[in-house]
Amino acid sequence: MSLSLIAKTIKASPTLALNEKAAILREKGDPVIHLGGGEPKSRAPMDAILSAVNMLNSGEVRYAPADGIPELKKSIIRYTEEFYHRKVNPENVIASSGAKQAIMVALQAILNPQEEVIFPAPYWVSYPDMARLVGAIPVPVLPEDGTFYPRLKDIEMRVGSYTKAIIINSPNNPTGAMYSEEFIADIVDFCERRGIYLIMDDIYHRLVFDGRKPISAYDYTKKSVEESKLLIVNGVSKQYAMTGFRIGWAVGNKKLIEAMANIQGHQTSGPSVLLQKAAVGALNGIQSSVESLRVTLENNRNVLVDQLRSFDGVKVHVPDGTFYLFADFSAYEKDSQKLSNYLIDKVMVLTVPGKEFGLDGHLRISYCGTIKDIEEGIERMKWALDPNS
Ligand code: PLP
Repeated sequence: MSLSLIAKTIKASPTLALNEKAAILREKGDPVIHLGGGEPKSRAPMDAILSAVNMLNSGEVRYAPADGIPELKKSIIRYTEEFYHRKVNPENVIASSGAKQAIMVALQAILNPQEEVIFPAPYWVSYPDMARLVGAIPVPVLPEDGTFYPRLKDIEMRVGSYTKAIIINSPNNPTGAMYSEEFIADIVDFCERRGIYLIMDDIYHRLVFDGRKPISAYDYTKKSVEESKLLIVNGVSKQYAMTGFRIGWAVGNKKLIEAMANIQGHQTSGPSVLLQKAAVGALNGIQSSVESLRVTLENNRNVLVDQLRSFDGVKVHVPDGTFYLFADFSAYEKDSQKLSNYLIDKVMVLTVPGKEFGLDGHLRISYCGTIKDIEEGIERMKWALDPNS
């Protein structure tokens, strides 16, 4: 008996697979440098830990409501007011097991089989497979002008009668590009005119550099929350260094949120109450860790950009935010998978092939580790690719 078509179509997440590879190599004692990861290395905030420990000590760790505990919803409502300048109600909020699950249940609630979801390329590795998981068709759109900044006219050309949703991720994984306010205003307006759902994946919105500030798509809609088809997705994973806690959320009109909660209720129930409590601790607690992470990442970015600039043949796009840099290595090797494998085999440096994000010839290099790892990793890459430099 063979497995389902879905099982045959969906591959393992390449970034999670790379983490496993790094762990196996390290266990063998190999001096691997992991520049492929997607998580900050700082500690989770003490307020988050204490909040979860208090609940654990109570010995009462029960099922949570499918859409999240009221206390967490309250914190998310406050967060939405602060960063998105919108007053929303508990019915407009769902807490999920990571932003990943929030996006997944949103796609399940929005898309029918064969309908299309558009997202700019390069894109986060999970979007295409998430679309396929609901039987929908992923439509990546690479900007025609060769930049990492999407243009409405490129997207507009790909919109058809089957287009049901657009996902925008800014600042972007893998490029670190933060899209302009003008673009966000245009895409909000366009989706409203065409009745298309707009999912804003804002998971990196506070990790921005050079004086940039988070952008709120709600600032550009003329509609009320209930009339709008805008869905804001966010979470604690990146900004609070809480990737393993698996808490994310979405804010949108109550009909959509209710549909998402119904689906989530049958899939996983509400996220673990213990971890929701930790997220409450992070959101209500002292916020200095977010700024100190942001400053560290900006400094790491500067070091990485400097190092790469001394590298003949590599084209660097300076990231506006996140902890990723997406560089063009095609002068050395056009097949990014081959190049990434070569760097692992030759000098034990892990990077993610651009192919996985929809653009070959590039490598995604993460700078969420230590400066020492960044410097040594790039030194080794230089030695592997430019032995005479
Ligand atoms: N969205 C983007 C663009 C990401 O890069 C990631 C994680 O790598 C996620 C969502 C998932 O975040 P979470 O850990 O909250 O599921």
